Amino acid sequence: MKSFATIQELWDYCERCPLCQANRDVSISIGPEHQIRLLSFTKNQHLLLRCQLFSDKYEYQIDCQDNTFTVSGYELINKSVVPYIYLQSSCSNCVSASTYSHDMLLMNRTKVITDIFLERESFALIDGNTRLSVNVLHTNVNNPRIMISAIFPDQWFHPIDLPLFDLDVSDQVKAVQRIKNLMSFS
Ligand SMILES: [Zn+2]
Repeated sequence: MKSFATIQELWDYCERCPLCQANRDVSISIGPEHQIRLLSFTKNQHLLLRCQLFSDKYEYQIDCQDNTFTVSGYELINKSVVPYIYLQSSCSNCVSASTYSHDMLLMNRTKVITDIFLERESFALIDGNTRLSVNVLHTNVNNPRIMISAIFPDQWFHPIDLPLFDLDVSDQVKAVQRIKNLMSFS
C-alpha cells in the first residue's frame, strides 16, 4: 500500500489532480455502514464528522496533523465495533482522475487513526483516438501493479498488467506514448 504519515498528507495527495493540477473533490465515508451513518463533515484544520449510531448522534473531531481524534456526544458502548473512515476523490475539472483510500481504523482505546494508506488511483488517459483506463493498485504492498486497458473495446489494445512504475500523467500524450512503448515489451 502507498502509506502516508498523516491524514493531512493523504488528503493533500487526494486533492491535487496529477492530470490537470486542479483541486479534486474529496469525499469521506464512515463504517461499518450498517451501524454508523455519516450525516455531514467539515474539513479545515480539523476534520469534523457528524455521525449517527442507531438513534444517537455524536461527533468525531480528527486532528489531521497527528492522526488523533476525540469523540463528543456519545461514546461507543460496544467497544468491539472499530469504526473506520475512507477517502475518495475525483476531479470535476478533467473528470479523469480519482483516488480511493484504504479503510482507516479509529482505534477506540488509543484514540489514534491507523492504516493511512491509499489503495487505488484511476486515470483516463486520452491521446487522439487512444483512450486508456489506467488503474494503479497499491493493495498488495509487496506487489503494487498498474493495470491498463482500453476504455472502449479495442481490437489492437489488449489489457496489460505490469509491476508498478513511475508514470508521469501530467502530460497525457507522453504518458500514452510511454504505455504504447511498454506494450511492445510486455
Ligand atoms: Zn483533473
